[in-house]
Amino acid sequence: MHIPSKLPQVGTTIFTVMSALASELKAINLGQGFPDFPMNQSLIGYVTDAMKQGFNQYVPMQGYMPLREVLAEKIASLYGPAPSPDTDITITPGGTYAIYTALTSVLQPGDEVIVFEPAYDSYIPNIEINRAVAVRIDLQFPHYNIDWDLVRSKITPRTRMIMLNSPHNPTGAVLREEDIRQLKSIVLQTEILILSDEVYEHLIFDQLSHQSILRHPDLMERSFVCFSFGKVYHCTGWKLGYCVAPDFLMKEFRKVHQFNCFSCHSPSQVALASFLKNRDSYLSLGAFLQQKRDYFASLMAQTRFSPLPSYGSYFQIYRYDRISEEPDRDFAIRLTRQYGVASIPVSAFYRQATDHKVVRFCFAKKQETLEEAAERLLRIT
Ligand code: PMP
Ligand code: GLN
Repeated sequence: MHIPSKLPQVGTTIFTVMSALASELKAINLGQGFPDFPMNQSLIGYVTDAMKQGFNQYVPMQGYMPLREVLAEKIASLYGPAPSPDTDITITPGGTYAIYTALTSVLQPGDEVIVFEPAYDSYIPNIEINRAVAVRIDLQFPHYNIDWDLVRSKITPRTRMIMLNSPHNPTGAVLREEDIRQLKSIVLQTEILILSDEVYEHLIFDQLSHQSILRHPDLMERSFVCFSFGKVYHCTGWKLGYCVAPDFLMKEFRKVHQFNCFSCHSPSQVALASFLKNRDSYLSLGAFLQQKRDYFASLMAQTRFSPLPSYGSYFQIYRYDRISEEPDRDFAIRLTRQYGVASIPVSAFYRQATDHKVVRFCFAKKQETLEEAAERLLRIT
């Protein structure tokens, strides 16, 4: 039997490919982005308590109300006007799902969506499965800034949405105030929507402030903003996140969500509602990850890799031009096989596999993991 593929250009995600190779070869996995240190023990305690107290049945489709209330308060304290916990926040099974659902709830066939490459690998397939068109714009190598004049030149009557991601995966670049000014000058008099992927929200370094779309009511009126509890609280396997959007967009979002997932894991929502009351649970995260970034960079300084700056997320990308001229995919695979360290080739984040000969390392790891990885990378001549 032959069925036409809905995603003919898509293979298996690079994260699965590199993690499978790392596990087959027992390599140190600095590829796929997940911490190898334990998550917060008190958060685990809250989940256990919630289960024992009987929070084991469905919560409402929109998410556990006390969690939505805590999130609204947190947003008000960090960024600006509180969204309504009733109409503007929905808990989802992870950030990826929130992004997919947002796109699916508004895109019509033929709509154009501006996407910056390198782009997190789910974005373009999520657009295309909705028969919309990804309009790809390269971030400017090697600093990965947005060329806003180029963005202006790509706007057409079919432009439905612009997708943003800050802090950025895979580069660690972050949006600046000037970027937000430029974005406003492009979208405000139009019907263009924004999808802002802010899953690395608190993981931002060097005293920079996170330029959340939630700071700007005039942008929020047209935006889906997507978050991941798994990413920031070191429990990627929980696959829990949320989306914030104005009422008219959230109504559409929930129409899709209610018939796909309906409601998410209850005990972890109950636990997070308690955990997030303590502001330190998130305000301490940037400094913690910055210390890891700096420690890894100090170890890598002795190798032949050259870093590009990372201002946020838990990734840093490195050039390897002093080591090899191989394509990045071949290089990343050889690094895993010969030296036992897995990374992610950055060409995987481009539809045309653009290869600037850089690989991404995840530094959200225990000190000894980073030390062992750097020691192995030091052997490369
Ligand atoms: N967006 C980006 C840029 C990410 O790196 C991730 C991490 N996987 C996600 C979204 C989604 O996170 P989650 O695991 O919560 O789906
Ligand atoms: N966000 C993670 C990364 O960039 C991976 C998530 C996934 O495997 N889908 O490594």
